[in-house]
Amino acid sequence: MTTIKHHPDNTLIRAYAEGTLAPSVSLLLSAHLEYCPKCRAAVQQMEMQLSDSVVSAESRGQDSATTDRLLAKLLRDLPEIDESSQGNEVMAGSTGEMGSISDLPELTLENRRFVLPQVFAKQLHKASAWSRLPGRLHQARLGIDNSHIHFIHMDRDSQVPPHTHRGTEHTLVVHGGFADERGDYRIGDFVTLDGRHTHQPHTDDVEDCLVISALDAPLQFTSGLARMLNPLSGLFFR
Ligand SMILES: [Zn+2]
Repeated sequence: MTTIKHHPDNTLIRAYAEGTLAPSVSLLLSAHLEYCPKCRAAVQQMEMQLSDSVVSAESRGQDSATTDRLLAKLLRDLPEIDESSQGNEVMAGSTGEMGSISDLPELTLENRRFVLPQVFAKQLHKASAWSRLPGRLHQARLGIDNSHIHFIHMDRDSQVPPHTHRGTEHTLVVHGGFADERGDYRIGDFVTLDGRHTHQPHTDDVEDCLVISALDAPLQFTSGLARMLNPLSGLFFR
């Protein structure tokens, strides 16, 4: 049983419920929800609050853009009925936890296979080939609305050079785990970092790690030889 220690903050949960997150961040947060009952409950509660506020705005005769947006979001979120799966008790009986292994999409790197959250099933065909980065890292890009979302694989006993962020980086661990100066992160953990944080993620010598990151600006390396990588940091975003 996975114990998730790192969750998206309330601002993100609210923006997710309102439907105002960037598509890449929204996708990452959806993936976290597959692991995390606590945040599923938080989103559900937020959606109830938002729908209550829509109803009370309607009853006061208000007709605001916000109300329209929330209604559109609620309508969009109504479950789609897939005729081909009607009567399929196995699929319909999902409790919202991650499904059985065979249901879930997989990503391969060399001879390794990684199980991904269900939400990536319809996205994987947009993934680029892996590119090799210094420090026993591999990266593949997922093209979604021109935003920066990446699979980053860290081999055992590897590290990313120390860096900070010009924008905001959201990271979800989907295999293994890594640690930095601030703590350690395991499957399902959702971490948000920005320009206030410098960190040097590394894996241990036991297990490799696959993360999915959504970034809105290039990394900025801060020390040693890695500083010379700064002009190349766009590498992480192609
Ligand atoms: Zn959570």
